[in-house]
Amino acid sequence: MTLHTRSLAALALGLTAREFSSVELTQHFLDRIAASNGALNAFLTVTAERALSDAKRADALLAKNQGGALTGIPIAHKDIFCTDGIQTTCASKMLKGFVAPYDAAVVERLTAAGTVLLGKTNMDEFAMGSSNETSHFGPVKNPWDLAKVPGGSSGGSAAVVAARLAPAATGTDTGGSIRQPAALTGISGIKPTYGRVSRYGMIAFASSLDQAGIMAASAEDCAALLAPMAGFDARDSTSVERAVPDYVAGLQQSLKGLKIGILKEFFAEGLEAHTGARVQAAIEEYRRLGAEIVEVSCPNLPLSVPTYYVVAPAEASSNLSRFDGVRFGYRCENPRDLLDLYKRSRGEGFGSEVKRRIMTGTYVLSAGYYDAYYLKAQKVRSLITDDFKRAFSQVDVLLGPTAPGPAFAIGDKVDDPVTMYLNDIYTIGANLAGLPAMSIPCGFVNELPVGLQLIGPHFSESQLLAVAHGYQQVTDFHSRVPAAYA
Ligand code: GLN
Repeated sequence: MTLHTRSLAALALGLTAREFSSVELTQHFLDRIAASNGALNAFLTVTAERALSDAKRADALLAKNQGGALTGIPIAHKDIFCTDGIQTTCASKMLKGFVAPYDAAVVERLTAAGTVLLGKTNMDEFAMGSSNETSHFGPVKNPWDLAKVPGGSSGGSAAVVAARLAPAATGTDTGGSIRQPAALTGISGIKPTYGRVSRYGMIAFASSLDQAGIMAASAEDCAALLAPMAGFDARDSTSVERAVPDYVAGLQQSLKGLKIGILKEFFAEGLEAHTGARVQAAIEEYRRLGAEIVEVSCPNLPLSVPTYYVVAPAEASSNLSRFDGVRFGYRCENPRDLLDLYKRSRGEGFGSEVKRRIMTGTYVLSAGYYDAYYLKAQKVRSLITDDFKRAFSQVDVLLGPTAPGPAFAIGDKVDDPVTMYLNDIYTIGANLAGLPAMSIPCGFVNELPVGLQLIGPHFSESQLLAVAHGYQQVTDFHSRVPAAYA
C-alpha cells in the first residue's frame, strides 16, 4: 500500500516496525509536494530542510523506542500560525517576509508530540474568505477539479490533505474555515469548542470566534492530532482549564440509541438539491447504525450570517489596527508624515476584502451606529446560542449539510461578496455559539465531494469524533483520492 494513503495509525505502525524511516516518509511527501504544488498553489512555504532535520530527530527517538503515536509523522500548518524562524504571512502583502520570533501554541504542541513540519499552507488573506481567492499569493486549486475553488479560508490545508501532499494539516475556523473547505475537498475537519485549543500565536481575525482545529483524511486521524493540540494554556486568556479526554479511545463509543437532531433550518431554501440528497442518504445510514433521528428547530439560525458580518468585522477592525506600518509588516515607500505612513502602508498592504471588513467593522462600532448594529448583533448572538442550548436538551448531536453545494468555479463569486458570504450559512452558527463542529465527506455531486456537518454541545469533541468515525466505518468516501493524486 502506498505511504500517502495510509492512516496515521498505520504510518505510526510502519515507523515503529522500521518498515520505513521518518526521513523516507518525509521525503516521499516532499517529492509529492515538488510534483504538485506548482499547479495547486497550496503551500506558501515548503520547509524541506527543516522537515528532514525534524525527521532525523524522530528517527533517533524511534530507534531508542522512545517515540509516541505521532513521532515522525509529517504535517503542514496553516500560514496563520506563527512559526519561529519561518515566514508567517497570513497570505497578506502586509506580512510578506514576516518572521515570528516564537512558535504558536499549536505548533509548539504538535512539534513536541514529534510531528515533522513540511511547510505553511496558503489561505484567504487574514482568513477572510470562503474560496481562497483573497490570498495575496494567488488562489489555491481544488485537487478534484483545478478550475474549482477548494473553499476557504483554510483552502491550502484542505487541498494539501485532499491531494495527499501531507497526511494532515492545521486550520482555523472563525465562521466555517475548517469545515467548508473540508467539505469542498472531500476530507474530514474538526473545529473544537471555543477555548479548547490555545489561540496563542495564531494571528487574530475575530477573537471571540477564532478557533484552531485539524484537517485530515478521517475522523480517526483528526482524533490523533487533536489530542496533543487541546488543553489549557495560560497565555490565551480564553483557554479553558479542563481535562483533555483520550479522543482516540473515545472513537469506539456505540451509536446505538444516539439521538441525532435534524435542523429544519438547514434543509430550507438555498440547499442545492443533489447535495441535500447526499446528506439525506447519510441520515439513513445513521438510522441503520442504530441512531434515533429527531427533527429540531433553531428558529434564529437564519440570522447567523448577518449577525456574523457585524461581529466578525467589528473585531477584525480592532485586531488589524496593529498593522500600522510601524512595528512590523509592510511599510510604504517615502512617507511624507506619520498620517501618510499609516494611510499608505495600510492602503497598499491590505487587499480589498480585508479593507471591506475593516470599513464595515469601523462603521458598526462608531458612536452613532453601535447600538443599532453591534449591540443588536450581540443580542441576536445570545438568541442563537439559546436556540442551540434548547436543541441539545432534546438531542445529542445536530446533523446537516456543511455547505449549500459542492465546490464552485474560481472567479464565480469573487465579485459578489454577499453570495460568497452565504456559502457559510450552515457553519457560522456553531462559531457564534462557541460549539464544536465537524465536516466529513458523505458523497459526490458531479464528481465533486459533498460534506456532512455534525455539531455538538460544548466540549463534546469525543462524541462528535465517534459519530463521524462510526459513519466512516461503513462508508468509504473519506478514503477516496482524486485520480491524479492516487
Ligand atoms: N468565510 C468566513 C469569512 O469570510 C469565515 C472565515 C473563517 O472561518 N476564517 O469570514
